Amino acid sequence: MSAAISVRGAVKRYGDLCALGGVDLDIEQGAFFALLGPNGAGKTTLISALAGLVRLTAGTISVLGHDVVSDYRAARRMVGVVPQELVFDPFFSVREVLRLQSGYFGLRRNDDWIDELLENLDLTKKADANMRQLSGGMKRRVLVAQALVHRPPVIVLDEPTAGVDVELRQGLWAFVRKLNQAGHTIVLTTHYLEEAQTLCNRIAMLKSGRIVALDDTANLLRAVEGHTLRVKLA
Ligand code: ATP
Repeated sequence: MSAAISVRGAVKRYGDLCALGGVDLDIEQGAFFALLGPNGAGKTTLISALAGLVRLTAGTISVLGHDVVSDYRAARRMVGVVPQELVFDPFFSVREVLRLQSGYFGLRRNDDWIDELLENLDLTKKADANMRQLSGGMKRRVLVAQALVHRPPVIVLDEPTAGVDVELRQGLWAFVRKLNQAGHTIVLTTHYLEEAQTLCNRIAMLKSGRIVALDDTANLLRAVEGHTLRVKLA
């Protein structure tokens, strides 16, 4: 099967600091993939580069064959990103946030899909509430809906369960699993091996801007248990 995401020689420097030190990575279509690593490993930088939000110092990234720099618009349509930060204009309602995002993608008649997303994310009752009236967990679910508004084949979630209680977390994962079963490629970043292990079929471990391990979940766990993989996870 061909790659949903293809990263070649990705380097990102901020002055003297090397956030990505030459990353090569292929994520297959239909995968449920985890990018695992401690604070500062470079996970958000890699995700931001693939969403076209950060320009690499060197190297290339393509999403379903579209280069994220030279073919930005097409690449942007292929991917929905759920960022870590809960940043919204507090004066918009939930529905307005989703309509604005639809407008960005030129989707004028998207209300049926927006209603379906609200229903699936248990937000229907909050559709007309202002963003400032929502709890952190609800805002995070709005971010998920926002990322899915244009039905992207690839969905990238940057630590989506940070600050989310157990019940909401389970609901979120059930929904993301459903998306994966429907054929979406899922990439998530996490600090937790247990989270990656329960959800994902393939894991890359990132440390100090480099991939230190990349394998199917079962093989990687065997290596960790057998101590043949000597990396500190968090
Ligand atoms: P976390 O799990 O804490 O979110 P991460 O693996 O996502 O960490 P990044 O946020 O990608 O890590 O950061 C990688 C490195 O790049 C860190 O040392 C960080 O301080 C640095 N960095 C990230 N963004 C910038 C920036 N805009 N300017 C300077 N340094 C940055």
